[in-house]
Amino acid sequence: VIPYEDVRALILAACAPLQPRAVSLADALGCVTSIPLQADEAVPPFANTAMDGYAVRAADTAGAPARLKVVATLAAGAASDRDVGAGEAVRIMTGAPIPSGADAIVIVELTHSDDDGATVVVEREAQPGDHVRPAGDDIAAGDIVVAAGTELGPAHLGVLASVGYQRVPVYPRARVGVLTTGDEVVDGPAPLQPGQIRDSNRPMLLALVAQSGFDAIDLGRARDDIDVIEAAVTDAAARCDAVVTTGGVSVGDFDHVKAVLAKLGRFESWQVAIKPAKPLAFAVIGGRPVFGLPGNPVSAMVSFELFARPALRQMTGHRDVERPQVVAIADDGLRRHPDGKVHFVRVVASHGDDGRVHVRAAGAQGSHQLHATAAANALAIVPDGEGIEPRAEVRAVLLQA
Ligand code: AMP
Ligand code: MG
Repeated sequence: VIPYEDVRALILAACAPLQPRAVSLADALGCVTSIPLQADEAVPPFANTAMDGYAVRAADTAGAPARLKVVATLAAGAASDRDVGAGEAVRIMTGAPIPSGADAIVIVELTHSDDDGATVVVEREAQPGDHVRPAGDDIAAGDIVVAAGTELGPAHLGVLASVGYQRVPVYPRARVGVLTTGDEVVDGPAPLQPGQIRDSNRPMLLALVAQSGFDAIDLGRARDDIDVIEAAVTDAAARCDAVVTTGGVSVGDFDHVKAVLAKLGRFESWQVAIKPAKPLAFAVIGGRPVFGLPGNPVSAMVSFELFARPALRQMTGHRDVERPQVVAIADDGLRRHPDGKVHFVRVVASHGDDGRVHVRAAGAQGSHQLHATAAANALAIVPDGEGIEPRAEVRAVLLQA
């Protein structure tokens, strides 16, 4: 029996980042940059107006009101070909380039036009630079716009687009296969035959993979037959970056996953000192990690969270591989008995009026009772012992942050 921190360290040490490659901006959301990204262009690329109004020489508005001759109109997207001379103004729209000669914008609300638009009366003095957005005000050519190791969010993609990036070098989204094992587990709508159960783990694990930002690949189900499992895992390791299996890693007569993983690659299995999710198998087959998660649905989910997800995040270049943790208040306590294990209690976390996070057990805590776990949004980490007193503090992993 081994502490979960040790297991996690062993797994992380075996899961190297994937080879970076260039992907199109449209495919890059959530990916992590592999190198710093530099701007070759300035943003804005030219000085332009922040407001609709008139481009003027500020000096001409001294002692306003001042009457100026309107010599042109400039829309956004137009290039200015007409200088603004002394006593002149150019009618101008937000985003249009500042015409040469002008050094300020007077907003339209502080003017009135006259002579059918041939002249404009500026009602207040302008200062040089008013409402002018200088070239490079956001980004200068040569700036690093996105640091290496950044998880690209929507605004990062906007920034990269603003300086002309079509493709970005990132750690690719991991392709993660999910394989169910078990003779009793069935798919489809048919009525259950004696001894059969429906597959809850594969849909759940595929969703966990997708929700974590990886590409989920449905590998179907393998019977509890050593050759069938070997063929399925061999194929999976050949076409996925990582594989998650569920079931068959315990000590039952038909738990063949460990034997298969031991045959195919560098293999370890553990009895982890946690509840749920004690058994865990792990192998590296042809460089691809394979996570042999337990079959009990709650165990599969907790095991994915504790071991597979951090490793997959590391493979995809994330610097922070862990879910965020908070110190919460266990409103009703989380009582337990000593058993040498850390308990990961599924809890509902909420923000209290006191500014603290409060947690309550989500319901039944059996490793086969997924229904109650579905209501949870956090895992309370309850150390070995008698548990947490009502209103005492407990550390919790936030699953939905
Ligand atoms: P195992 O780890 O294969 O010994 O399975 C442990 C328990 O989890 C057994 O009660 C299985 O029937 C159940 N189980 C295994 N795989 C699944 C699955 N994909 N969906 C739901 N229950 C499962
Ligand atoms: Mg089984």
